[in-house]
Amino acid sequence: MTISNDDMAQDTVPHDAASSGITPGGTTGAFRDVLAKDHARRGKPPLHLVDMSAEQRGEAAQRLNLQPFRVKQLANHYFAHYDTDTEHFSDFPADMRSRASSAFFPPLISEVTRQTADEGTTVKTLWELFDGARIESVLMRYPKRTTLCISSQVGCGMGCPFCATGQLGLTRNMSTGEILEQVRIAAKATRDGDIAGGPGRLSNVVFMGMGEPMGNYRSVMAAVRQMSALPPEGFGISARNITVSTVGVVPGINKLAKEGLPVRLAVSLHAPTDALRDELVPMNKRFNTTKVLDAAHAYYLSSKRRVSIEYALMRGINDQAEHARELAKRLNHYGDDWAHVNPIPLNPIEGSRWTASKPEDERQFLDILHRAGIAATLRDTRGSDIDGACGQLAAKHQ
Ligand code: SF4
Repeated sequence: MTISNDDMAQDTVPHDAASSGITPGGTTGAFRDVLAKDHARRGKPPLHLVDMSAEQRGEAAQRLNLQPFRVKQLANHYFAHYDTDTEHFSDFPADMRSRASSAFFPPLISEVTRQTADEGTTVKTLWELFDGARIESVLMRYPKRTTLCISSQVGCGMGCPFCATGQLGLTRNMSTGEILEQVRIAAKATRDGDIAGGPGRLSNVVFMGMGEPMGNYRSVMAAVRQMSALPPEGFGISARNITVSTVGVVPGINKLAKEGLPVRLAVSLHAPTDALRDELVPMNKRFNTTKVLDAAHAYYLSSKRRVSIEYALMRGINDQAEHARELAKRLNHYGDDWAHVNPIPLNPIEGSRWTASKPEDERQFLDILHRAGIAATLRDTRGSDIDGACGQLAAKHQ
């Protein structure tokens, strides 16, 4: 039996305006944060253990005549052992396993295809969701950490013209279960040594896959809390190792600051002036560079965590000396050492007029930032030979 989630607070439609600050843009506005035409047919993802409140878990257990402590057992198998196959649960009554499985662990994501690169230490997976929608995640092994980049929405409504995901538009928000299943499966694969480098531990999670996390705030935060809590409430990944990125949705940043969680904030700035950013990031027309940097700096003050400034370098567009100087000036305006800039070599999408910077321009850009006292590291482009740009794999298979 799969429990329907009609009465759930789960938010799978994109207009979570109250919490995200994103309001419907309509089909002709700057943002394509509109529901997919077949939204009604798609329905909502089946309800999973991690989507349920404590009361809902209790009610679901009651419907199956399960004692309340059985729910804790299920949660422990999920969060401590990354296991959803109830047939493995030797501490669980054999005749209850299959019903518990469909009530608490409905399958939410299934692998469509996977690509590996960097000698097997980068694995990019395309997943299909219950309604046929597709998203992706990338698992990256480094000497001292293993990082998973996850998606929080199907597509993205922010419409950045240089971005493959932006070209897809937004189909729908993902549920907490769909977000966390990416994490569970990657944590299991890492533990079992299914990724090159031998058995290990998933240590870091970044919301830098498909979607704008602030546009799906409630589900994203429920996922963050369950990632960082210790088993049996969560996977035990330190909140300090979780990064929530945003294109600059200011109310979302302000709200995140009030959560009191030491997660890292990453802001995709991509341009140091409003004139240029208006062109590259349509959201800038709603929250301009001053508002975004003010909010990012306030986040730094309240969280004591250095903010990451993401900056995709595009040849001849935003990668010249004047841009680096202006960026340094804008950041230094708030003081020292509060931000870390990640210039990212753009992985261009086919047929796009935005292309990667020349290596000498990348070097010059970094040098100027360093000389101005700004911490900056060229982001490594893991998986750039496997359609590594944000959303490209999914775009290819849509
Ligand atoms: S760059 Fe980020 S915010 Fe912009 S369209 Fe792509 S996924 Fe969305």
